[in-house]
Amino acid sequence: MVVMPDRVAGPLQRIPPLPPFVTPEDLLSDALPMLDPPSRMSVTDAAESFLRIPLRGSWQSFDRSIAPYTVEPADITQSRRFKAVVFVGPSQSGKTMLLQTTAMHAVTCAPDPVQIIHMTKTDADAWVEEKLNPLIMNSPAIRERLGKGRDDSTFSRKRFRGMPLTIGYPVPNQLSSRSQRMVLLTDYDHMPQRLGPKDSPEGTPFMMARQRIRTFMSRGCVLVESTPAFPVVDPAWHFDPAQPHLLPPATNGIVLIYNEGTRGRWYWECLDCHELYEPRIDRLHYDASLPPGDAGAAAQMECPHCHSLLSHRHKVTMNRAALAGHGGWLHEGARVDVETGKRELVRIDDANIRNTDIASYHLNGAAAAFSSWSEIVARYETAKRRFEETGDDIDLSGIFYTEIGVPYARRDIDEEGAITVQTLRENLRELPYKTCPSWARFVTTSVDANGSWFAVAVTAWGLQGERMLIDRFDIRQPLDTARKAKDHDGRYRAIDPGKYAEDADTLAPLLDEIYPVQGENWALKPSAMVLDFNGPVGWSDNAEKFWRKMKRDGKGHQVFLSIGRGGFKIPDRVWYASPERGSNGKKARAIKLLNMAVDRLKDSVLAAAARLEDGPGAYPLPHWLEEDRLKELLSERRGADGYEKKPGVVRNETLDLSVQALAIAEHRGLNKIDPTAPPEWMTLSEVNPFAVWTGPGRVNQGEQAHTATSEKRAIKWLRR
Ligand SMILES: [Zn+2]
Repeated sequence: MVVMPDRVAGPLQRIPPLPPFVTPEDLLSDALPMLDPPSRMSVTDAAESFLRIPLRGSWQSFDRSIAPYTVEPADITQSRRFKAVVFVGPSQSGKTMLLQTTAMHAVTCAPDPVQIIHMTKTDADAWVEEKLNPLIMNSPAIRERLGKGRDDSTFSRKRFRGMPLTIGYPVPNQLSSRSQRMVLLTDYDHMPQRLGPKDSPEGTPFMMARQRIRTFMSRGCVLVESTPAFPVVDPAWHFDPAQPHLLPPATNGIVLIYNEGTRGRWYWECLDCHELYEPRIDRLHYDASLPPGDAGAAAQMECPHCHSLLSHRHKVTMNRAALAGHGGWLHEGARVDVETGKRELVRIDDANIRNTDIASYHLNGAAAAFSSWSEIVARYETAKRRFEETGDDIDLSGIFYTEIGVPYARRDIDEEGAITVQTLRENLRELPYKTCPSWARFVTTSVDANGSWFAVAVTAWGLQGERMLIDRFDIRQPLDTARKAKDHDGRYRAIDPGKYAEDADTLAPLLDEIYPVQGENWALKPSAMVLDFNGPVGWSDNAEKFWRKMKRDGKGHQVFLSIGRGGFKIPDRVWYASPERGSNGKKARAIKLLNMAVDRLKDSVLAAAARLEDGPGAYPLPHWLEEDRLKELLSERRGADGYEKKPGVVRNETLDLSVQALAIAEHRGLNKIDPTAPPEWMTLSEVNPFAVWTGPGRVNQGEQAHTATSEKRAIKWLRR
């Protein structure tokens, strides 16, 4: 191709050498492919004719039988029926070859603009240098179509005869510039899933790519490939025969696009019973009690119909037979069998395929051409055992994503006997919001101090340790009287308990809240508030100030500052004591702290929540509690030395608040109550300073009198 420099002519010595002599015939033959209608050759046929690929150390012609499951997805990119082709699979499946055959088909057979998007510029450059350039250089039919000009072969662009191939990365200006007939997105789940500025995102890379192909109408296509990298949304998700090929919905990424599509899965035909089944890692049969390497070496695929076993050496044969029609890609059809409730499975060209413009494919690691069952099983078993020992599932999740090619559901939530969000959700009790159950005799308020909010839980207690949350909320806004409470536009700042001592004043009214007892003419006020002494920087001092202020108001005996002590080997569960003298000669604080053996208390809280039956010691949850709060309660798991947050978990306040509530209840003597003769302050009667009559007749007459006596009672508690 002739390239003329378009710079302004300067001094003679700065004019670059002229391009080599070109005849008009050369020019014409260069331009003619642009006038040629798109060739009818399929992507795979073109690859076998024109493409040479590296295989076992040498360059050989492309061979469809090496990764037979890529044939249909590659060829379907040229179909006018689908606007997008999605391939989800493990890392050793030849997904990137799918990308290359499709892009090179455009070079040889359908010269229109094509764009390839990698996850980063570094990845794009590395791919061009290590994969694309050698591929072009070793494939004569491709190489001779590459322009000879200086700008025709760069990291970001290859100009072939009649078509440009651009190589980019996911930033909005690359995905919103010119029209493309095809956009190929590789390693999709490792791209940012929202492009553009945070406050006005332009969309997912997939959505933006679809915009690019619009002008090419039905000829346009977006190809997306990736291993999944986002976890399953709902660990309680389970198989539905009406959607047999649905992947458990993930929080983001390619799995969501796959589920929108035709949902193709790769099938083998059993050599014994001739039924079709999907080869999957979870269908591998092996002795899990053996060491991982030995377990892997003996792994065999089990036919789910006749249970015959197949060893790994048959994988190549099975995949090739599938390509020849004994198995292969089956997609979800539009019809469900009325009698069995099962969805019909169909071929990609069946008119009764799921009505969608996305052809989607999911390949399980068991059929992947370049991995072996023994390695996958050995790595899976190793990671699984490490997880069981340490509770750390990073390696295990990695096996699911990259080796098996499926989104990962956190296993500890799945395990039998373990309490799950699903179980809690199914066992919620009807109880009006901010109302005590009929058995409630006292109420506690727990507060967890965070950087910009207080997490608050209010718990109603029965005489035998049964309890229920009656309120759970966050305080995020300071009182009007606080410093800089509002800005010039009247908007409140977030509270900042470490910085502003007065922000703790938002907590004082919590002790005056009144909660009716179901079926009784009584209501209860919190008898105690327990406040986390640890929190953001500066909070401990402010917490102490708040306690002194409450003491001046005559409520010091109701406010407790708590501090957690970790480990299971602590002899006491709860003790009330002054902090030991600080190190470095620091003065010890003159206040007392409610010390909590948090890990031991967490055991108790979770065991109580897991009981699911009412009665002494039970901790049923109310129906109005949001699912996020249930997740907070189950946000940690037990390790050998203590509880720790599960990976990826951010909020755990409901668990901490429950621990504080149990600590104060035990400190107040919960475990020593004689239910037939409870102390006065645990009765629904006038002698209880925290009980409020709500029935006819007396109009809260007890209230004032109680305040006076409560300080006296408090002294008794403090001395316990
Ligand atoms: Zn069989």
